[in-house]
Amino acid sequence: MPIDPTLPYDDQNIFAKILRGEIPCNTVFEDDLALAFHDINPQAPTHVLVIPKGAYVSWDDFSANASDAEIAGFVRAVGHVARALGLVEPGYRLLANIGMDSHQEVPHLHVHIFGGKPLGPMLMR
Ligand code: AMP
Repeated sequence: MPIDPTLPYDDQNIFAKILRGEIPCNTVFEDDLALAFHDINPQAPTHVLVIPKGAYVSWDDFSANASDAEIAGFVRAVGHVARALGLVEPGYRLLANIGMDSHQEVPHLHVHIFGGKPLGPMLMR
C-alpha cells in the first residue's frame, strides 16, 4: 500500500527496524549518517537502497528538515555506494518515491540505486 508522506514518522516502519538491528539486512555500506543494503525484491541485477539514519518520511521531509550535514552525508553516501559497486562507467539510475502517486511503500526516505544492465525508458509507458 502506498503511504501518505504527510503523516508523522512511524518508528515501526521496516527500515526503522533495520536501523535498530531488529531485523537483518544485506549491508553494502554504513557510516554515521547512512546505511545501504540490497533490496529484498531486486528489480535489476544491482538494486541497492540507501537510507539516512535520521527519522525522515520522504525526500520531502528530508530536504525540508534535515541538517546540512545529514544531507551532505546522505548524498555522498549514495555516490560512494554507486562507485563502490562499479556502476559509474556502465551507468546507473537513482529513484526516490515520494507519496501516493509514486507508490512509496516504506515511510522512511530511501533512494533506490539500479544498475547492472541497460535500464530502458525512464518511466513505464
Ligand atoms: P518504495 O516503493 O520506493 O517504498 O520501495 C520500497 C522497497 O523496499 C521495495 O523495493 C522493497 O522490495 C524494499 N524492501 C521492503 N522490505 C525490505 C527489507 N526488509 N529489506 C530490503 N528491502 C526491502
